[in-house]
Amino acid sequence: MRPQLSEYPPIYSGKVRELYAIDAQHMLLVASDRISAYDHILTTPIPDKGRILTAMSVFFFDELRVPNHLAGGPDDDRIPAEVLGRALVVKRLEMAPVECVARGYLAGSGLAEYRATGTVCGIPLPAGLVDGSRLPQPIFTPATKAALGEHDENVSYEQIAATVGAGLAARLREATLDVYSRGAEIAAARGILLADTKFEFGTTPSGDLLLADEVLTPDSSRYWDAADYEPGRTQPSFDKQIVRNWLTGPESGWDRTSDTPPPPLPAEVVDRTRARYIEAYERVSGLSFADWPGGSA
Ligand code: ATP
Ligand code: MG
Repeated sequence: MRPQLSEYPPIYSGKVRELYAIDAQHMLLVASDRISAYDHILTTPIPDKGRILTAMSVFFFDELRVPNHLAGGPDDDRIPAEVLGRALVVKRLEMAPVECVARGYLAGSGLAEYRATGTVCGIPLPAGLVDGSRLPQPIFTPATKAALGEHDENVSYEQIAATVGAGLAARLREATLDVYSRGAEIAAARGILLADTKFEFGTTPSGDLLLADEVLTPDSSRYWDAADYEPGRTQPSFDKQIVRNWLTGPESGWDRTSDTPPPPLPAEVVDRTRARYIEAYERVSGLSFADWPGGSA
């Protein structure tokens, strides 16, 4: 008999995920179907998004073979039926207070800083790079976690070293670049560019550093279709472009620069976005989403 979700005390509710206590050493990490766009959580969920992103995380945790926080498989007995497929039992860690970002391409906040100063997180880059340029080599561009509703702040490696200590900072940088490179290689073999990604690491009571949170999901990463890659413009987002195009197009009636929240998504946009997430998972993993636990069938 699986437990009810209500039997687990809630610990934390994030924008997209929720944490529950299982026991002193373990937690349940539950991914919802919520989707964000342009810094808003939309009122319309994308059915199965939580399961798809959980499947992707598990695929990469398996594939990367670095020590990670998983404490059971996707159908572990401790997972309540109501969240089966979008929840994982994980080890409770002391999280490093650093968003460990690796970038292989210039985009987003990295591009903005480069345009202003020629650097990203204080790392000097060659002149003449454009939106979407591939960097000479992947770089570690850490950020500090912002409070709800605020943007994470890019900081220099030295600032991270001052916050967490030189030893941990060096381990985080090395692990981040290592995991990014391997993830990018796996994605590239499937025609997908991993422009950048964010990892979170935590330590066990005995001091081991584990890869935690979600890994290499479209929520934590910028995925581009290699077939559409064209530096010099904003690259279409593999997962969110359908939603973004609709929101900024004439049909939504929404003004991105206003304070009003975005309107609900039409069913057709929801369906196409759901299919897109499934395509991302199946392309990257080579697996069939129909085989993932928790489906209605
Ligand atoms: P966002 O990711 O949207 O910026 P958020 O990180 O606050 O917001 P979620 O990602 O929804 O919210 O929540 C997941 C939370 O769980 C994060 O705070 C993350 O640091 C934490 N976490 C992930 N894995 C572990 C773990 N093994 N032990 C302890 N905390 C963890
Ligand atoms: Mg998070």
